[in-house]
Amino acid sequence: MTNWRPASRAQSAKTALAGIGALLVAGLLVAACGPRSIDDTRGAQSPNQNTSTTVAETTTLPPTTLAPTTTTTTKAWPKGPVLTIPAAGAVPVISTIATADPVVFLTIDDGAVRDPRVPELLAQFKVPATLFVNEGPYLADPDYFLRVIAAGGSINSHTRSHKRLTSLSAAAQRSEICGMRDIIGQHVFVAGHLFRAPYGLSNGATQTAAGSCGINAVLFWHAALNDGRVQYQQGNQLQPGDIVLTHFRDDLYDNIRALLWQCAIQGLTVAPIEDYLPLPGDG
Ligand SMILES: [Zn+2]
Repeated sequence: MTNWRPASRAQSAKTALAGIGALLVAGLLVAACGPRSIDDTRGAQSPNQNTSTTVAETTTLPPTTLAPTTTTTTKAWPKGPVLTIPAAGAVPVISTIATADPVVFLTIDDGAVRDPRVPELLAQFKVPATLFVNEGPYLADPDYFLRVIAAGGSINSHTRSHKRLTSLSAAAQRSEICGMRDIIGQHVFVAGHLFRAPYGLSNGATQTAAGSCGINAVLFWHAALNDGRVQYQQGNQLQPGDIVLTHFRDDLYDNIRALLWQCAIQGLTVAPIEDYLPLPGDG
């Protein structure tokens, strides 16, 4: 699989909207699979939302967040805002992308349940996904995860063993974070350059460890998918730029359908997050 390359970002973005429209029609024809009431999910929160020891920030990082020893790049990335990238050390923590574009981003964690319908659904509707995987589930079937991102996206580290990073030393965190990225790199042309901490638990050592091996952002989230429903951390609908969290569990197929339905209602597209958070120097 060493010759595999990620799908075109632009291509997948252009086709995603058409796919969502098709799903909307399909959903109208299949009443039993229709969307859940938005009111049902009002006030729902991510199970990990209150456990973080790091305050997630948007990508609009004020200059005052920079330590004296870092430098700031003013490079404007293709579609998103300018990020301040430390010359070395901690990478930013992001839970939503500051953009007015009508887009949201699908992220899928862990990998234990590998439903064969999921890659088919994502391919059918050309939906890109950013994956965060652990060693055991990933190595059980690396090809499965490649199929999941056939329409676009990336495979990223979620640590090797899904430990609570805040209880580990800096060296142990680095081994967990970077070791998993190395494992992914054995199967894909380029391992994803993002990271998500298990349980949403991270600290400064996490951000520094991630930055030491080519990862350039720690991703949190701003909405979640569970039990076939969209759960919002703010308000009762998706916000442009929302990072949406879900997992490789039994409900993933229904969760993705719920997201696509909600996107169709709101006129949103699931876009590749790599278009908004490219590698420094990429654009
Ligand atoms: Zn996880």
